Amino acid sequence: MMDHFTIDDRLLALAKQAEIDCKEPFARMDEIAAYNEEKVLAAFMECRVSDSHFKSTTGYGYGDSGRDKLDEVYAKVFRTEDALVRHNFVSGTHALAVALFGVLRTGDRMVSLTGQPYDTMEEVIGLRGEGNGSLKDYGISYDQVDLTPEGTVDFDGIREKCPGCKVAYIQRSRGYSLRESLCIDEIERIIQTVRSVNPEAIVVVDNCYGEFVEKKEPTEVGADLMVGSLIKNAGGGIAATGGYIAGKAKYVELCSYRLTVVGVGKDEGCTLDQNRGMFMGFFFAPSVVCNAVKTNIFALRLFELLGFTSYPSYDAKRTDLIAALVLGSGDRMLAFCQGIQQGSPVDSFVKPEAWAMPGYDDPVVMAAGAFTMGSSIELSADGPMREPYAVWLQGGLTYHTGRVGILLAAQKMLEQGLLPNL
Ligand SMILES: *Cc1c(COP(=O)(O)O)cnc(C)c1O
Repeated sequence: MMDHFTIDDRLLALAKQAEIDCKEPFARMDEIAAYNEEKVLAAFMECRVSDSHFKSTTGYGYGDSGRDKLDEVYAKVFRTEDALVRHNFVSGTHALAVALFGVLRTGDRMVSLTGQPYDTMEEVIGLRGEGNGSLKDYGISYDQVDLTPEGTVDFDGIREKCPGCKVAYIQRSRGYSLRESLCIDEIERIIQTVRSVNPEAIVVVDNCYGEFVEKKEPTEVGADLMVGSLIKNAGGGIAATGGYIAGKAKYVELCSYRLTVVGVGKDEGCTLDQNRGMFMGFFFAPSVVCNAVKTNIFALRLFELLGFTSYPSYDAKRTDLIAALVLGSGDRMLAFCQGIQQGSPVDSFVKPEAWAMPGYDDPVVMAAGAFTMGSSIELSADGPMREPYAVWLQGGLTYHTGRVGILLAAQKMLEQGLLPNL
């Protein structure tokens, strides 16, 4: 029985079983969270963060000590020379684009080592559209090493295509595909392979959804630049917007020239009262990420017990906080997302439908009842309405509320006769 929600008894029994099965994977995540929370706390202390760093600035933002201090904290945690953490990054895609435009020049070549990058990067690179200022329009060429038919990284392909490239690009998380997300050990092997044929290549990692899921980050195993969104993991559900780029100082500087202006770089940019939320969010991030991954693991096990295929397996070693649940039909995707929406603290009364989204090829259905618009560290589910009709599930600020959302999604499907096993 649940006191505040109506959930079918058979679903509650399966949920109980799922939680018993998840005991070990949960314990592993708790251990990682403890490590990362300590790592972040130690960085705050070593950097001598003080309440004066939460002061707001306007205009040029000269002398904004909080802005500089936040860069220092990120660099300390991610073991990099420098970082650029700004609310002015409108999204992860923006931060990634700034990183690529920051370091690439006409005549250069970038190679994606992990197959087709995330959907929204296609226009940035110039795989879609023309004359709109993509990398391709500026004479920067693109190549990719496809994954093997089994969905694994093609190390021979990397050795073949990396010589002479300027940027070697790695996407850690699966994004809207069913490939495996890449754990840090695998990213380390990829980087070593790149270095063996091209020591000069700038290794850029799309770290979206990856921060704090493992004990190390890609920059700790050789990445030159790492990029992420603050409305995902690193913002801890508190940062209102923003993104970050962290890595080698000379590359971060080039990125800062692209974000603001050549010659000005990191020295300007007011923070409009965003600092406190960004500091606090980063402090909370390891714990919130742990809750999100646990919510994810619970969903994976529950839907496996309900007869669905999902990726990764609930007991897999995790490197991001995304799960793909293959539901097999548009009806089920809609019902699932409507249930997730119903279990959200904000806009629980709204009914999601599929619609055309800027940057995406197919109509997308999204459930997001979040405090921050579009935030996916908060419980959210979405997917393009196309084969294999899978929803990608992520987030959950707290485990117990995340669990309610998952149960309401299953309940919604049950009520519409869309659960084959019940
Ligand atoms: C979320 C995400 C991005 C960036 O998406 P935005 O919506 O622009 O923040 C890029 N790559 C991956 C793998 C992602 O998950």
